[in-house]
Amino acid sequence: MKRKTKSYISYLWCLPPMLVSWLLVLLIRLLWGSKLYWIEGTLWCELREGSWLQKRYKRSDGRKWGGTTFIMGGIYNVGVPKDTEEIDTRVERHEHLHVEQTKGAQLHSFIIGFATFIVLCLFNQQLLAIWLGLSIWSTGGVLSYICHGIQAKLDGGEFYRDNHMEEAARALDN
Ligand SMILES: [Zn+2]
Repeated sequence: MKRKTKSYISYLWCLPPMLVSWLLVLLIRLLWGSKLYWIEGTLWCELREGSWLQKRYKRSDGRKWGGTTFIMGGIYNVGVPKDTEEIDTRVERHEHLHVEQTKGAQLHSFIIGFATFIVLCLFNQQLLAIWLGLSIWSTGGVLSYICHGIQAKLDGGEFYRDNHMEEAARALDN
């Protein structure tokens, strides 16, 4: 499915973790990266061949990681992105599904965080309203991934391999 890619309104509910994720991508680019590029409003860095992180970017079974998403961007191992203007490799399709999943989770946490903020303001608890509202809003995308992993473990699987968000992304391979 070709998505409407530049849904800039999503930046609103992704804002706090998005800024952190972009700083992280920039830091990785500075230390261990080569190419840095935007694709569909998200920021990505390709690791530098032979850099410290690239050499250690392996799974526990020794296989190389292809990529990792941090909210609205992330990193790719050497050679994964073929054309930086397109999402045209298996790993890129996988990682960009994680972006879409995160945007949905962030919209959810934005609504819950905003509702919490309003209710606490009505009870004259402005400081708590800001702290709790921001905390709920900022952590929605990450918590969603963690909770799907915990649920996978409770269902008898593994946190990563059987994480329902990973299963959905891997389904794109077929
Ligand atoms: Zn994944």
